[in-house]
Amino acid sequence: MEPAVPERARIPIMPAMVSSRPSVPEPRRGLRLDPLSGRLAGARQVDSPNQDDRPPGCEPELVVLHGISLPPGEFGGDGIEALFTNRLDPAAHPYYRRIAQLRVSSHFLIRRDGELVQFVPVHRRAWHAGESSYRGRRRCNDFSVGIELEGTDELPYTDPQYEVLGALLAALFAACPRLGPEHVTGHEHVSPGRKTDPGPAFDWARLRRGLAMGTASAETRGHVIPGSPRS
Ligand SMILES: [Zn+2]
Repeated sequence: MEPAVPERARIPIMPAMVSSRPSVPEPRRGLRLDPLSGRLAGARQVDSPNQDDRPPGCEPELVVLHGISLPPGEFGGDGIEALFTNRLDPAAHPYYRRIAQLRVSSHFLIRRDGELVQFVPVHRRAWHAGESSYRGRRRCNDFSVGIELEGTDELPYTDPQYEVLGALLAALFAACPRLGPEHVTGHEHVSPGRKTDPGPAFDWARLRRGLAMGTASAETRGHVIPGSPRS
């Protein structure tokens, strides 16, 4: 089992930061997770059939960040949503022939423009990490929330993506008692050698700064995302 999550401020940490950014559209400030449905108010809801119950006793304790683009390197199309809802057309692109039969999903997707889509309720298990291990604990899907960022390993992720990711993490931390900034990692870190996303393009220091800005207690700042090798 994981060690107990360190004591930390329960104040939602991002709204204060977001509210200092007048450019952020109104809906992004209002992200709130409904504890009964596991759905996030403020996210567009798309149901993925690729989900099931978490194992008994498992609750969200980890956030796994991913990067994805379909076709690879192309943004803005329907490929990701089609993949996560089992309706990807294998004839639509040569790459799709290799992946159309996969049964995968994530809880959330943040598009390049900051649009937030939810595919799986947070209390359910999404199928995003595959073979994986976090601090010696295997099968990360059992106890994690998966967030996909539309992008590639090499191209910088966008400002709206960082802003929405920060707001989403704050909403998750506020709603899930075992989630926190000390347990946010990348797919490349839980599946090393097999996965490379979100890749060197993802700015872990920027995420860490954004989270720390809203952290009420100075003592928690030293614990922000120590799980990341770039921390
Ligand atoms: Zn991934």
